[in-house]
Amino acid sequence: MWAFREWLPVNPPEGLARHVGGTPLVRASRLDGDADCEVFVKFEPTNPTGSFKDRGSAVGLAGTTGAVGTVSHGNMAMSMAALATDADRRCLVFVPEDISPERLAHIDQYNPTIYQVAGDYGELYAETVSLDSKPGVSFVNSDSPLRVAGQKTTGLEICASVAPERLDAIVLPVSSGGHASGIWKALKELRAGGLLDAVPELHLVQAAACDPIASAYRRQEDTVRPVTGGDTIAYSIANPEPPSGNRALAAVRDTAGSVVSVSDTAINKARKTLAFEAGLSVEAGSAAAYAGLCQLTESGPLTNQASIALIATGTGFREPQELSGDPRVIHFTDLAGETMAE
Ligand SMILES: *Cc1c(COP(=O)(O)O)cnc(C)c1O
Repeated sequence: MWAFREWLPVNPPEGLARHVGGTPLVRASRLDGDADCEVFVKFEPTNPTGSFKDRGSAVGLAGTTGAVGTVSHGNMAMSMAALATDADRRCLVFVPEDISPERLAHIDQYNPTIYQVAGDYGELYAETVSLDSKPGVSFVNSDSPLRVAGQKTTGLEICASVAPERLDAIVLPVSSGGHASGIWKALKELRAGGLLDAVPELHLVQAAACDPIASAYRRQEDTVRPVTGGDTIAYSIANPEPPSGNRALAAVRDTAGSVVSVSDTAINKARKTLAFEAGLSVEAGSAAAYAGLCQLTESGPLTNQASIALIATGTGFREPQELSGDPRVIHFTDLAGETMAE
């Protein structure tokens, strides 16, 4: 991502943060069939902590001094803690009281100070934003300008990878709206710089159980109203009160895109297809994007002529996997006697 240093508000840091971004754009032709279009996958699991969050954390750290704080119990917490410890910076992570022990351990391995918060977690987010910098602590939350600046590099890299060709659309899962805001920023800057005549459409995908941005889009409103989110396997995209929701809606409108919701059943199927066909293991929240893409081409507005970049936002390696219904496991005792054909 530091190839775009002139587009960023900070200088490239040393250490682990230097190696964030620059992820591959994979032409995954085996995904074309179900999606009914030409599919490219921007594969973010190759980042140091396995998600695009490292982009925002790297810029967030480079743009602040002293301790950093974040309100997250998922990929953002891991990302901040990992990059902070490498930079010899203290990291404060605020997680909800009911976080699972597995998730807590994933964060804890990177040595942050963890505050487990009783009470309303959504309210806490707003409070830390208004605190902004408690003496010596800078909060780099999902919609902080430094994080959004870092996360725009996903968009810059995608456009640079296919140039001088242009993609018809970029499809990504959305929760707080921070990543979508960043990618929109990239497209606007490329357009303003005369580097893109027409910008790709931005299509955003949410889990049906918690889809405040998609609901506002369906109601044709400009503002996102908080929802009471239900359970979904896509926990990374289940923010019931997205801080950058309105900006995500504006991005969609500006680029003639859309916001769709997908069921957990569709998400699970998409996750399996990504691994089984394309060899790409992503987490459920990330697989939602492929489920959304299949829906977008089936019922419009995307056509089968389209070339699409799907953003695989986070790794599947942290999630338990289940055996496929018909695993190709062969039990044998005599290697010499096996033909191994087919
Ligand atoms: C954070 C996250 C998202 C959602 O990004 P927002 O910026 O919150 O909209 C999607 N996928 C994964 C894997 C994430 O960690």
